[in-house]
Amino acid sequence: MSLLSEKMSLFDAPQKYQAAGVYPYFRAIESDQDTVVTIHGKPVLMFGSNSYLGLTNHPRIKEGAIKAIEKYGTGCAGSRFLNGTLDIHLELEERLAKLVHKDEALVYATGFSVNSGVIPCLAGKDDYLLYDELDHASIIEGRRLSFANQLKYKHNDMESLERQLKRCESDKIKLIVADGVFSMEGDIAKLPEMVDLAKKYDASIMIDEAHSLGVFGQTSAGICEHYGVTDDVDVIMGTFSKSLATIGGFVAADKSIINYLKHNSRTLIFSASITPASTGCVLAALDVIAEETWRKDQLWANTARALDGFRKAGFDIGHTETPIIPLFVRDNEKTFILTRKLMDDGIFVNPVVSPAVPPEDTLIRFSLMATHTFEQIDEAIAKITRNAQLLGIIP
Ligand code: PMP
Repeated sequence: MSLLSEKMSLFDAPQKYQAAGVYPYFRAIESDQDTVVTIHGKPVLMFGSNSYLGLTNHPRIKEGAIKAIEKYGTGCAGSRFLNGTLDIHLELEERLAKLVHKDEALVYATGFSVNSGVIPCLAGKDDYLLYDELDHASIIEGRRLSFANQLKYKHNDMESLERQLKRCESDKIKLIVADGVFSMEGDIAKLPEMVDLAKKYDASIMIDEAHSLGVFGQTSAGICEHYGVTDDVDVIMGTFSKSLATIGGFVAADKSIINYLKHNSRTLIFSASITPASTGCVLAALDVIAEETWRKDQLWANTARALDGFRKAGFDIGHTETPIIPLFVRDNEKTFILTRKLMDDGIFVNPVVSPAVPPEDTLIRFSLMATHTFEQIDEAIAKITRNAQLLGIIP
């Protein structure tokens, strides 16, 4: 065995969980992806998806993808910078900039590559990056690639953020980067307070709208629109892999920032552009979201029902106010066992365990879609409650 294989074989956590019959990852779905999916030939209720508006099977969005493939082919075989820019990329960028009320937008192949490729461009050597300790992994990646001074603040704690801002030199860029809605715990960034602090200390703000685009705001533009702080937030990023039903991402900002990114962002320049199919999907999805406003209303009705149901059942659900509901288990083993028991009961949820979160914050991530029915939600809550009681997670 090579040294490489030998070292890798020391990592045996998955095998341990597989042997115990509770390994919860890479579960293959054999059907289309709506509220009921097929796994191992059996129907399972899906409460682990980020398709908040339930759009992944929408006929108009599928048609958008098919038409784009028919016209442009299956891939761009190059980056946006060189041969990989299509007229529909430009059309999409214009639509996204308008949606989030910024001068310009730039489309990337994934949301991960937006955060990892934008953040290091905006804050360089001697500048400051101020980040929430629960920011998404792609933001962590972006700051790892930046030469800026890195200042962590406590989760959603604006006093902690202010303490860090006070440490920064006044003539350097101070970029605060945060999830708008936190991806695992479903709580919302304290944007109005953050904006006040940014003004006080002459800092800039970048907000990740991955889990808020399509979900928050009068025109579904996200959490910045919801709080009316779009003009005070310098950089908005979003992904197409949640509400927009496909894959890809974008960043939107003023002309000077987008111009800089177009010519310096390595994940844009040295990576192939988003596919024609995904571009066609997003263009169609934006139309559907604007027209079928019942989806957002139903998502919020579903969220209210689930929040109420889990609270009444005695679950600790933290500070969530969104379709992402964390059911705190606070124990790795029990989280895996509960996930497996629920799978056996026909309910798909996602376990979130250490090292992704500290062991005391281990949770089951339960997420809602607009297309769930109240009956499906009630059935899931009843099954989760029964299993959690048997495991001693709730009284
Ligand atoms: N930001 C956040 C907050 C996310 O949750 C995710 C995906 N889980 C991303 C960025 C990355 O997006 P994508 O899936 O498009 O790479």
